[in-house]
Amino acid sequence: MSSGCLFCKIITGMIPAQRVYEDEVCIAFPDINPQSLTHILVVPKEHLSSLAEAGPEHTELLGKLMAAAAEVARIKKLDRGYRVVVNTGAEGGQTVHHLHLHVLGGRHMGWPPG
Ligand code: AMP
Ligand code: ZN
Repeated sequence: MSSGCLFCKIITGMIPAQRVYEDEVCIAFPDINPQSLTHILVVPKEHLSSLAEAGPEHTELLGKLMAAAAEVARIKKLDRGYRVVVNTGAEGGQTVHHLHLHVLGGRHMGWPPG
């Protein structure tokens, strides 16, 4: 828990969000400004400011987050495919400084991303 962190406030319930999925390490909820028909954020309960903070001690957590993203895609029936994105740092386009995975689906994704 990091005071002043938006996603920590969602995790504690201080700010409401519709929990699409939850397990012992993470919660998943819809992005408030969706960039595709389905746009869900997978957020670890542990505060980690970005992927750049991750080290060998986080490999189990990172694996569980990826597995949770796959579970979210199944829950949302993204059978035709989807994209998982981790914006990292200023040039990576990160705006909320609590690690999160974007699960985007429901439209064709272009490449390269903008
Ligand atoms: P990023 O730009 O990768 O750091 O992603 C942060 C995401 O959080 C953006 O896509 C925002 O739309 C989303 N967001 C910001 N505030 C909220 C909120 N209260 N509930 C859900 N999503 C949010
Ligand atoms: Zn946080």
